[in-house]
Amino acid sequence: MGTLVMAVRSAGELPSRKMATRRFGCLTVRRFTSIMMQMILQFASWKTMVKTHAAIVLTILAFSASATAQTEVDTLIVGGHVFETSSKSFKETIAIAIKDGRLLSLDRPVSDFKAVKTIELTDEEYVLPGLIDCHAHYNVRLFKKRREEFAVMPVIYLANGITTTFSCGEFAPEEMLALRKRIESGEQIGPQLLNSGPYFGRARPGWRGKKPAEEIRDEVDFWSRQGVGGFKAKAIDPDSLKVLVEQAHQHGLTVTGHLDSGFRNSVNPRDAIELGIDRIEHFIGGDAMSDSKSAYAVLGNITRDMPEYEKAVQLFVDKNVVFDATLTAYGYPGLPKEEYDYWIDERKFFTPFVQEHVQNRKPKRPMQVFEDIYLAKQKTISAFHEAGGKLSMGTDHVSDGTYLPGFGAHRELDAFVRNGIPAVDALLIGTINGARALKIEKDYGSIENGKVADLFIVKGDPIKSIRNTRNVKTVIRAGKIYDAANLLESVRGKLGPADEDETQDW
Ligand SMILES: [Zn+2]
Repeated sequence: MGTLVMAVRSAGELPSRKMATRRFGCLTVRRFTSIMMQMILQFASWKTMVKTHAAIVLTILAFSASATAQTEVDTLIVGGHVFETSSKSFKETIAIAIKDGRLLSLDRPVSDFKAVKTIELTDEEYVLPGLIDCHAHYNVRLFKKRREEFAVMPVIYLANGITTTFSCGEFAPEEMLALRKRIESGEQIGPQLLNSGPYFGRARPGWRGKKPAEEIRDEVDFWSRQGVGGFKAKAIDPDSLKVLVEQAHQHGLTVTGHLDSGFRNSVNPRDAIELGIDRIEHFIGGDAMSDSKSAYAVLGNITRDMPEYEKAVQLFVDKNVVFDATLTAYGYPGLPKEEYDYWIDERKFFTPFVQEHVQNRKPKRPMQVFEDIYLAKQKTISAFHEAGGKLSMGTDHVSDGTYLPGFGAHRELDAFVRNGIPAVDALLIGTINGARALKIEKDYGSIENGKVADLFIVKGDPIKSIRNTRNVKTVIRAGKIYDAANLLESVRGKLGPADEDETQDW
C-alpha cells in the first residue's frame, strides 16, 4: 500500500510540460491533472484506511477466536509424564488430547482445547501405552477341565492396563468369537480381543495325526473371514504347519507356534522359521534340542553360552522372527518364589465356593522339570535380547484359582528386568513389540498422534522400578476411561462356579 501511494505522488509531482499546455474541453490539462490527482490520492488514502481497519478487525477476530473457538475433544490428560516410544523415555506431559477414540494431539498447549473430561495428573503419575499380551489365555482349570472364562477374565486384563490380547489357541473358538463381538459392540467391558480360532495341531481336541491340506486351508479361510488376529500351532507336524503358514499369509495373518524339538514328527522352531513362521512361543529351539528327545527333556540344560544357543538366536535375528518368551509361565507350577507374591490378592476374584475348594485341595507337587525350564529360560533371555532378538510379552497362564494372567503381565515385565533386560526395554517389549508382532503397529503400541487411544496411568516411574506398572490407576481403551479399582471391584468374588451343581461345566 505504501509503495502504491508513493508511486501516485511521484507521478503528480512531475507533470510533463507538454501536458501542461494542452486543453481538455474547458479545463487546462494542468487543472484536469490536478483534479484527477486529488481524486486518486483521496481514493488511495481511503483504501489505506479501509485496509488498516480491516487489519485491526482481523487481529481482534483472531484474538477472540483463540479465546473461544478451541478444539473440542473428549478427554484431555494434563500433568504427569508420558512415555515416548521413539526416544525410549518419559516426557513431561503437555496435553494428551483424545477425540473419537484416537489420540488427536500430544504437543499443543492445554489452552487449545475444550475437553468434556480433563484428567489432571500429579508429578508422580506416568502414562504408558496399553500393554499387549501376545499369549493371553482366557483359561482356567479349576475342577474337571481346562476351559475359557468369559465374564471376569476380560475385566481383569483391562484393569491391569492390558488393552490388547491375542488369545493364543482357543478351546471354544465360537464362544471366544462371540466374546470379541460383545466387547466390540460395547455390550461387555474388556481389552481388544484378537482371536486365534482353534489350535492347529494335536493340542486341539479331536485332531489326530495329519490333516488333509485342503481341510487346513478351508479352516484358515473360514477363521480369516471371522476376523481373527492370527493363528496358533501347537503340537503340529511339519506338513500341516507348512500349509497353515502359507494359507495364513494369503490373508495377511501371522502364525505363532508352541513347537518341539523335531522329536516324533514335531517341528523344531529352527525348521518352522525356514517354513516362514512369524513368531515362536516358549523356546527358541535349534541344534541344542536334538530330535531324539522331546523339548521338555532338554530345555532345562540350555545355557546362554552354548554355541547351539547362539546359533539359534542368530537365526531369529536374521529372519526377524519374534520370540514370545513367556518367562513366568513355567514358574507357576513350581515352588513358591518372591516374584509370585501378591500385590493384590488374586484369589479373591474367584467365587467363595472356588476359594474354599482351592484352600482345601491337596497342594500340588512341584514339578522339577518345569522348575529347571523356568530357571534356564531366565538365564538365557538377556543373551537373546543383547544379540538384537525381538521379544514380545505373553503371559500364557491357565489359572488354577490362585493367580490370574491379567496380573501376570506385570510379573512377566518384572521377569525381563530381573534377568538383565533394562526396564525401558521391557516397556517396549510389552507395548510396541507386541503391536509389531501382531502387525497392528499402525494403530497400536505407542502413544502417537492418530493412533487408537489405548493407554494406562500408573503411580511411580516404571523405568526406576518396573514394578510400578502394577500401580494401575486409570485405563483408557479406545478413548473410554476406566478406573482400575472400580473395574476390579466389579468382578470380585465372581470367577467360576458358585456352588457344587455348577461345577458340571468346570
Ligand atoms: Zn498357551
